[in-house]
Amino acid sequence: MDIASFSSAYSGLKIAKDIFLGFTDLKIEADSLGKINEAIKKVGDAQDALFQLREELFRLQEENNTLKTTIGEFNSWGDKLAEYELVKTVGEAVVYKSKSDPEHYICPSCVSKRSIQILQDNKTISGTYRCISCNGSYPIRAAEPMPDIKYRSSW
Ligand SMILES: [Zn+2]
Repeated sequence: MDIASFSSAYSGLKIAKDIFLGFTDLKIEADSLGKINEAIKKVGDAQDALFQLREELFRLQEENNTLKTTIGEFNSWGDKLAEYELVKTVGEAVVYKSKSDPEHYICPSCVSKRSIQILQDNKTISGTYRCISCNGSYPIRAAEPMPDIKYRSSW
């Protein structure tokens, strides 16, 4: 049942109630008048029940719309994350790696907050990449060996 059906049912009950109320203006036996008043009350009760059902329908439609939006956002996030796979890098960092070019890594900490942040190479010998959003640091590449520093002993 949709909102329009509720409105027409409500209008129908209002018309029936008005008709019954019209009878009370006529000269009729007290017994009949009692039955008419009882019918008026029952129609009023039906109107109230219908009104409450309509309110409940409104509430459920709103909840339904909210859930549809949430599911849409969830599916959209799932599609984005499906473009990555969780890997352990040479430097032993556990991060998400792109499945397509250009190859890149994204921050697992930010993924847990439903945000895709591409890790940037620090260009240091330690082989770490950093997340510009959360400042996380990840050893993606293998650390380069320390260069030999030779000191002159003749000074
Ligand atoms: Zn991050």
